[in-house]
Formats: sequence, C-alpha cells, structure tokens
Amino acid sequence: MRLTLANLCRVLVPRLADWCTIDLVDDNGGLARVAAYHPDPNRVAAVMQQSSNEVAERAIAVPLIAHGTTIGTLTLAHAESDRGFHDDDVALATDIARRAASAVENAHLFTRLREEDRRKDEFLATLAHELRNPLAPLSSGLELLKKLGDPRLEATRVIMDRQLTHLVRLVDDLLDVSRVTRDKIVLRREPLDVESLVATALEVSRAAIDKAGLVLTVSLPNEPLVFEGDRTRIAQVLSNLLNNAAKYNVPGGNVAVSAYRDDKDVVFEIADTGIGIAREMHGQIFEMFVQVQRNYEQPQGGLGIGLTLVRRLVELHGGRVWVESNGDGKGSKFVVRLPGVVEKSAPTPAIAETKSKTPRRILVVDDNEDAIYTLSALLELDGHEVRTATSGPAALEVLREFKADVALLDIGLPGMSGYELARHLRSQPQHATLTLVALTGWGQDEDRRQSQEAGFHHHFTKPVDLRKLQSLFE
Ligand code: ADP
Repeated sequence: MRLTLANLCRVLVPRLADWCTIDLVDDNGGLARVAAYHPDPNRVAAVMQQSSNEVAERAIAVPLIAHGTTIGTLTLAHAESDRGFHDDDVALATDIARRAASAVENAHLFTRLREEDRRKDEFLATLAHELRNPLAPLSSGLELLKKLGDPRLEATRVIMDRQLTHLVRLVDDLLDVSRVTRDKIVLRREPLDVESLVATALEVSRAAIDKAGLVLTVSLPNEPLVFEGDRTRIAQVLSNLLNNAAKYNVPGGNVAVSAYRDDKDVVFEIADTGIGIAREMHGQIFEMFVQVQRNYEQPQGGLGIGLTLVRRLVELHGGRVWVESNGDGKGSKFVVRLPGVVEKSAPTPAIAETKSKTPRRILVVDDNEDAIYTLSALLELDGHEVRTATSGPAALEVLREFKADVALLDIGLPGMSGYELARHLRSQPQHATLTLVALTGWGQDEDRRQSQEAGFHHHFTKPVDLRKLQSLFE
C-alpha cells in the first residue's frame, strides 16, 4: 500500500506541485507520514520530515475520506517554483484524495481478510490434530471389545466401529485440506499404472457403491497406460469422486469410471446418474466448505472439503479437474486431466524375437483380484499355463497339485506376507526348483535386500515390465 501511495505522489509531481506528501491517521489518532516525493532524491528525506505548516502559504492539504471518516491527508506544496494553486488544482487534488482513500481502505480490508483466513487455516490444522488424538484409544477400545466377543455388545460395537471409521475419514480430510492450503503436501512421484490406480481407488469406494445398490462399470485402455504421479494422492482423488458419485446418486443408478490417454495426458472420468449439479454451482463446489444443499439428511454427509482436496491435489500434479452436469437429476461427470504420460520404449528387436517359445507353469499370488486378472490374462496370451491365488495359504493349496516353474508373489498379502510365503516355500524340498519372483510396489535397496533374505530369486517393482518377465521365463 505504501508503494501505491508513493507512486501516487510521484505522478502528481511536478504536474500539480513541487513536492507531495501523504499522511495517514495512526492507531493513536495522530498523523504518520507514509509517502513523500520530491524530484531531487536528496531532498526526499527532508520532505518526509517536513511539516506542511512550514510552507503553509504555498501548500494545500486535502483530507483522505473513506466511508465518512478522515483517514489521512494529501499535501501538495510549491517550494522552488513560483507557481500557485488555483481552484481547479484544489478540485483535482480533492478528487485524487477521494480515490486514494478508497484504495487505502481496500488494502486495509484485504490485509484483515488475509489475516483472518490465515487464522482459520491454523485453527483447522489444530482442530484436526486435536480431534485425531482421542480417536486412537477409541479405536483400540473397540478392537478390545471385539476380542472380548460379548454377544450382547456386538451390535453396538459394529455401529460404533462404522461411525468411528467415518469420523476418522472426516478428520483425515480435514487434516489434508489444512496441509494442502498451507502448501505442506509433498508429492512422491513415481510411474503409475492407470489400471492399478483405478483398482486401488475402487478398493476404498466399492463398499459405498455396493451399499447404495448402484451398478458400477469400469472402462480402461487396452494397452497399459503409465504416467508420473503420487500413487496415494491420485487414488485419493479418484476415491473422493467415486464416493461422491455413490453419495449423490439415486436408487438403481449407475457409476461409471473410465480412463484413457489424450496426447500426453491421462484423463479419468467419473460419471453418475445422480441428482446432478446446477450450472451456476459448477465453479463453487470446488471451494472450501461449499455444499449445494446441506447434507443434514445424508447419513454419510461430509464437510464440503472433499472437492477442495480433489482440486488442490490435481493442481499440485499440474492437472485440471472440472464437472459437467445439466443439474436437476441429470447426473454429473467429473473429469480429471493429468499430464505426464510415460512413453513406452519401443521393444528392442533382440528381446522381441525371444518372445516366449517355452510355455511355463506360473503361479500368480496377489490379493488384488484386478491385478491377478490382468497379469494372468497377459501370461496366458503368451502361451503359459497360469494358476492364481489371493493369499499365502491359498497359494500353498494350489501348489499341492500344480507343479509351478515360477511363482510371482505380491509382498503385501493379508495374514501371511509374501516374505513369509517365500521362506516357507524355500524350506520345503519339493519346491526346490520353483523360481520365486517378488512383485511389489516397493523398489528401494532395503526392500530388495529383504526379499533376497526371504529367499526370492528376483525382485520386480510394479507395474511389472513384461519384457523383463519374458526374458526371465526364457
Ligand atoms: P461433501 O460431499 O462433503 O459435501 P464435497 O466437497 O465432496 O463435499 O462436495 C461439495 C458439494 O458438491 C456436495 O455437498 C454436493 O452438493 C456437490 N456434489 C459433489 N459431488 C456430486 C455429485 N457427484 N453429484 C451431485 N452433487 C455433487
């Protein structure tokens, strides 16, 4: 603001006066000089100190008035030149003072709003942290009740568990939104496979979609599509949009997810046949706390921050998100466009020619059924014989009658981890010729060391490079 006022003085000299000063009323009711201008830089400091009384007969001082209150004065003075002030000059100075006053007032309001906004963000961050603390013991308490297994408490425990899960999600969102508004979120970028991302998001949102009795359709590109992004955050974006598609839907409705490549971008679309969003709300729903209609009747009503998070996270990735809807029960479609498609490197002829000639017997173990489905389909296409299992014990069961050459094991399996399964298999002589391959999301040196220790022969990170697998089979 001082800069604006200094600039104002500068344009008034020498047109209207030889020098110019602006004083504003300070907190104590006195006047404080905030701007001064004299064309001779050596004299600016002197003018900054000079009282207008000292040149009274050669100066005019007009009040700065905002909303009927005098907030300062604009002083124009002639010193060196022998000019005087005319009525026109006074009228012009008065007009300029009026405009300057309203600019000063706006700047004050803006500063105050920004300060309040900052305090609100800080409050949200504190609130989210404070709410989180009591949730941990509540959750362990419920776990204890479950272990004690008193049948009289079971129905109540299940309700409390469900409500607590919902509460935890709200608090997590609140924490994230306060982090994102204070630029505290750092993305961990890595190559992401579109298909596995959609599967991860659906793991979170599937229950809500099924519970609402909706029909889900998923449409993905035929070829693997990989782009650079933060796995957790993009999955969070997709599941937030999927949850909304379930929440604001109508009985018997549809939710459709699709992903495709457009030039160098990946585009995700989440469409529903729900209540829709009126056009005039399309921009606003991404603002914090905005809800089209308050969700008092929604059992799973939120805080109006989900879409704010979605937009901020997408923008952090350099992407865009928008909604298309004709409102009025006509459904909504949210479109997320993210840059950073990773080009497939062209297969080198040498490897292309070594395309599997020897069919292998392969066991694929993963708790993600979508991952199993796609990988085994691809392997079968190459002529291999494939069996699948979604857990360690199930894998052991399969191996009883299926003599596999290679086992591709996910590490993060429920119950018996991939490491445990590998150790177990390595300890049994009948599996001595079985080649163990770890397929995991983790590719740090430490992860590789651990998988070697567990007895794995190879360690591949997801999404797995099929050509590498191919040459392994050869
Ligand atoms: P919340 O769902 O917690 O209210 P969001 O930020 O996720 O907050 O969404 C903001 C508002 O946008 C919602 O309250 C709802 O009115 C509207 N909205 C979001 N998604 C949809 C959708 N798929 N269909 C209709 N309205 C939606």
